[in-house]
Amino acid sequence: MQTNLADFIKGTADGIEAEAILRACVHCGFCTATCPTYQLLGDELDGPRGRIYLIKQVLEGAQPTRKTQLHLDRCLTCRNCETTCPSGVKYGRLVDIGRRVVDQQVPRPLGERIKRSTLKQLLPRSALFTPAFRAGQALRPLLSTTLQDKLQPARQAGAWPDFSVNRGHARKMLVLDGCVQPAMAPNINAAAARVLDALGVQLMVAPRAGCCGAVRYHLNDQAAGLDDMRRNIDAWWPYVEQEQVEAIVMTASGCGVTVKEYGHLLAHDPAYAAKAGRIAMLTRDLSEILPEFEEELAAKLQGRITTRVAWHPPCTLQHGQQIRGKVEGLLRAAGVDVRLCADSHLCCGSAGTYSVLHPEIAHALRERKLANLAATGADEIVSANIGCLSHLQSGTQTPVTHWIELIDRALAPQEASARGTSGA
Ligand code: SF4
Ligand code: SF4
Repeated sequence: MQTNLADFIKGTADGIEAEAILRACVHCGFCTATCPTYQLLGDELDGPRGRIYLIKQVLEGAQPTRKTQLHLDRCLTCRNCETTCPSGVKYGRLVDIGRRVVDQQVPRPLGERIKRSTLKQLLPRSALFTPAFRAGQALRPLLSTTLQDKLQPARQAGAWPDFSVNRGHARKMLVLDGCVQPAMAPNINAAAARVLDALGVQLMVAPRAGCCGAVRYHLNDQAAGLDDMRRNIDAWWPYVEQEQVEAIVMTASGCGVTVKEYGHLLAHDPAYAAKAGRIAMLTRDLSEILPEFEEELAAKLQGRITTRVAWHPPCTLQHGQQIRGKVEGLLRAAGVDVRLCADSHLCCGSAGTYSVLHPEIAHALRERKLANLAATGADEIVSANIGCLSHLQSGTQTPVTHWIELIDRALAPQEASARGTSGA
């Protein structure tokens, strides 16, 4: 696509990147058919090709309006369009740049500003979010349906493996605790630690690490998002240098997709560029770690998971990180009946803060996804991202868990008896 960027952005880092992305788009429209918001709303401007066109106009100097902002806001950033695009258009980066430029020129109404600011202040800070989440659970019956949906009961974490007194493994990995997951689903990382312990890997948490930066970055506070990323790098660096951790493990694919981009996002920061690149290289989704142990796990799990399981691959895993087939492969090797639902490439509507900011679209997408998942006849739904888990669970009685919790549950009795403890 021919472009002629306006002076305000031409030659800047964002301008150079946006121009390269725009030029790659041949306007074929293949992406439109797989876009969930286009499917739902039927407006070209609520599909990737239309949004790309809007961003192009703005970067070429056209005055954006509230309508432009709304079409960009309605994008889930699911990146399904990137998977579909035959020209390799990096839509996710382009929409981040487009949203920032539009927000600089189009003021938001007060109510929207308050909502977005509250999310930016609350979600990335565990010390604020955890007590607020607990208070919200206590007051759940008095709150709106949208908020009630976000306040699903949390499963108990169970015991973290005790690595004191010579029990530490030679193989060590870090895990990101993140921001909302410790309050909403503390069992996920504890389950990952127990399963990896059974496989001879010690999982550690760096206490000062927190939100991966995605919340603030994608709510157009890019500077604060980058600060979150720098804080994590500082927290992890001693473990990388001194403990020689093999990997930084992500149990939430939404965080993983962001941490894997640290090198790119901090490339222009001379103090952090090299470290950010190294951190990104070390970052792995949990589903990239466990296949190494597939045989051992299969032997331990054989015949222990008898329920039918539906696997919901989060967009941040299948489109953002382009990881497909690993979780299903691992579970199938262990004899588990794993099913994928129809249209499993489509977003469930959670999309970070999207389900709070655009509840109608999020709800419609959730209902479609749950109907497709129910049609598989599965007894349990498993996924890999805290946002998807809580969003889906809010609309169904079928249990929705992280896939590592499923494995942990199946291993628990034998590992506990092997250790002589009560386990989880
Ligand atoms: S983003 Fe890709 S698929 Fe969509 S219109 Fe452009 S080239 Fe075609
Ligand atoms: S990221 Fe998802 S919602 Fe946004 S344009 Fe692409 S396919 Fe559509």
